[in-house]
Amino acid sequence: MDASTSQQSKLVDRFGRTVNYIRLSVTDRCDLRCVYCMPEKMQFVPRSQLLTLEEMESIARSFINLGVDKIRITGGEPLVRRNILQLFNNLGTIENLRDLTLTTNGTQLKKYARALKDAGVTRINISLDTLRADRFRDMTRIGDLQQTLDGIDAAINCNFEQIKINSVVMKNYNHDEMHGLVKFCIDRGIDISFIEEMPLGGNVQHDRAATYCSSDEILEDLQHHYEIVPTTMKTAGPTRYYRLTEHDDTRIGFISPHSHNFCDSCNRVRLTVEGRLLLCLGQEHSMDLRHVVRSHPGDQKVLEQAIIDAMLLKPEGHNFDLNSQTILLRHMNLTGG
Ligand code: SAM
Ligand code: SF4
Repeated sequence: MDASTSQQSKLVDRFGRTVNYIRLSVTDRCDLRCVYCMPEKMQFVPRSQLLTLEEMESIARSFINLGVDKIRITGGEPLVRRNILQLFNNLGTIENLRDLTLTTNGTQLKKYARALKDAGVTRINISLDTLRADRFRDMTRIGDLQQTLDGIDAAINCNFEQIKINSVVMKNYNHDEMHGLVKFCIDRGIDISFIEEMPLGGNVQHDRAATYCSSDEILEDLQHHYEIVPTTMKTAGPTRYYRLTEHDDTRIGFISPHSHNFCDSCNRVRLTVEGRLLLCLGQEHSMDLRHVVRSHPGDQKVLEQAIIDAMLLKPEGHNFDLNSQTILLRHMNLTGG
């Protein structure tokens, strides 16, 4: 994968935004049950409705032919999907793919980090909301903190281009730990992003408006401990990055769908595990690509035309409202965060 080979994307929506980034949810299953992501007794999609790894690869190849040069593999927990390395290995050989990245909860990284690096994965986001084992168990319902910490260490040892911790911040769960999490990242020379919880999926057992913690509150709290300055740094996502004047190797990011809307510069779409191409995380506009690949097996041209047509469905922005009774029933694990 080489930056110089990247081509102009042919995917442009009605608002003039160019799409060069796709997130693939490769499974809705997970070995954790984070309170903000899914209910304790989650109904998973029947296996017959899931895309096969071959179908995912074929869809990914079509996107790359159309100029997409960044793919993030997500889920559910991507590393619990059987034979998932096959997908990483195959995508990693595609010349025009510049950035192959992964979002994971880290539980399987001790086993997979080296193979992912060898496959060509460039950057990894690892979710970690707390450094306290009891809270980790509460927030994930079943998780063991040490397993994720071991996974983070394993990834650090493999020298990826970027490792970033993702922390969803919730009042009365972990909002008092932001300084500790930043210190954890400084000690390891890795980045961190704080995420405002999004109202995806019903049946959560907490009141999302009551646990809401804005990025500005977190930033203000951190400014008591560090000198923090904004940067113009951009990766492919919606993160706003800050620099720590005394710690060059750690950037702090904020993903703030509520307090700082990022839809204007949206450059990405998502493929659910059932093959539904979602044009916006916070809306239901979609195209059924599973139907396209299954009714025209091996016909890359038809698939590419369907993808081009789908761009016309991309809405202007999300409508996230923590106080609204109308929520998107789709949980984050299905969508791919
Ligand atoms: N299992 C992997 C993980 O946890 O990193 C990948 C999938 S997970 C759905 C992707 C990201 O979405 C994680 O960083 C997670 O914390 C975040 N996430 C899940 N539900 C969310 C919600 N309701 N609001 C904001 N972020 C959420
Ligand atoms: Fe699993 Fe990730 Fe959702 Fe947590 S956030 S339940 S680790 S998919």
